[in-house]
Amino acid sequence: MYPSEFKYLAAESVDDALTLIADHEFAEILAGGQSLIPLQKERLAMPDYVIDISEIAELDYIEETADEIRLGAVTTHTTAEESELVREHVFIFSECISKIADRLVRNRGTVGGTVVEADPDGDYMPVMKLLNPDVVVTGPDGERVIPFSEFYIGMFTVDIEEDELLTEVRLPKLPLLPEAAGVGSTYKKHVNRSGDYAIVGVAALVHVDDDGSIIDARVTIGSVGPLLTSEGAADAVVGTKLDEASLEAAADAVEAEVMPDQEGRLGAYKRAMAGEFTQQALRTAYERALADSQ
Ligand SMILES: Cc1cc2nc3c(=O)[nH]c(=O)nc-3n(C[C@H](O)[C@H](O)[C@H](O)COP(=O)(O)OP(=O)(O)OC[C@H]3O[C@@H](n4cnc5c(N)ncnc54)[C@H](O)[C@@H]3O)c2cc1C
Repeated sequence: MYPSEFKYLAAESVDDALTLIADHEFAEILAGGQSLIPLQKERLAMPDYVIDISEIAELDYIEETADEIRLGAVTTHTTAEESELVREHVFIFSECISKIADRLVRNRGTVGGTVVEADPDGDYMPVMKLLNPDVVVTGPDGERVIPFSEFYIGMFTVDIEEDELLTEVRLPKLPLLPEAAGVGSTYKKHVNRSGDYAIVGVAALVHVDDDGSIIDARVTIGSVGPLLTSEGAADAVVGTKLDEASLEAAADAVEAEVMPDQEGRLGAYKRAMAGEFTQQALRTAYERALADSQ
């Protein structure tokens, strides 16, 4: 189906975009269009105006501060994935992007659009929940800086007003614990076919001491009911050197904590895969943490 009729408006700056938003009722922001355009084609979104922010140069950057990697909202998945700064300091984010759809989607889809969309099956979500970056939104009254844990309210719902733009995502550099001897992280995605949305997505982050013992662990699960941080999985592995017993305890904890939306065999399958992929993610994160500590 073709989208309903709309007027296209190209914003040249953040101020310009905010003015266009204020002046036009029933408008939608267009970033990469990878969610919006399919919704328009299905007539699930029928804006009168589409305000294109994709060419705003001041929103297209990746910068480093002492503690963060800051990404402008219209940075594409591909640019973020290939960024040396991201790979060096927040490799898990680059790894997660490499599992999104295909090159065509990654070349157009944006960091800001994906965080605002907050698709519960999206690959960013477990990684955002794990890293809890600050999100910057800009509106007529200036900027608000909100931790992701508050910005994300629930599936497809975030703390942003209609007259605001998401302008920046501030990823914390790893390690999060300066006292750690090593840090490792990973994002594992279970799909039936390459390029699909996740059946299960698991992000894991492990800090180890000099002795190779885990001093801190975080595990988040996406696509299996509500986005989840598994306290049980973390408790099962902290203080260990990730032996089989602790891995099994972590998987059991995740399987008990997730709440798949589906009943019956599909729900049971997702629950089992959440446990299996938790084990895989913890193994990889731990191996990377040990290597980092050498
Ligand atoms: C075929 C296909 C397969 C896909 N597969 C996957 C997958 O496997 N995993 C995955 O995680 N994702 C997947 N996606 C989604 C993809 O990652 C997109 O990047 C994501 O949907 C956001 O798209 P976008 O950045 O182009 O935003 P748009 O589609 O342009 O916008 C999305 C929404 O956010 C709003 N918006 C955009 N930017 C801003 C901003 N800066 N401030 C305020 N509001 C804003 C828009 O108004 C709109 O409502 C897929 C998409 C397609 C088309």
